[in-house]
Amino acid sequence: MSQQICQNFNCYEPIFSYHHQNRRYCSEHCYYENKLMVTNMQNEQRRSALNIANNDDILKLLYAKFGEKNYFSAAILESKMFDWSLRDRDIFKETLKVRIVKNYGYTLFNDETILLWKI
Ligand SMILES: [Zn+2]
Repeated sequence: MSQQICQNFNCYEPIFSYHHQNRRYCSEHCYYENKLMVTNMQNEQRRSALNIANNDDILKLLYAKFGEKNYFSAAILESKMFDWSLRDRDIFKETLKVRIVKNYGYTLFNDETILLWKI
């Protein structure tokens, strides 16, 4: 008798072989719960991709205006709905920590000024 485990991340109940062979969930509830979770994850990924593109557009615009090595207020990014919550990789340039957003990077200082970098 083969015994599989429910594919719902919150469940792990066994699925007995008298159920349909290709069954991946122990119940309708688990099926729908998992489906909802996958949809939420996909929406989150989509949102994140959109916000990365949006952040990149904002930095591109400001880079064209301020260029490199010109400090400006972080409030400008704030006003353009920059998403600070996105966590990408950090690198170091000239001893400064630079947070990378696609094609641009930024350094945020304690006095809430910003420096931009083209990556
Ligand atoms: Zn289950």
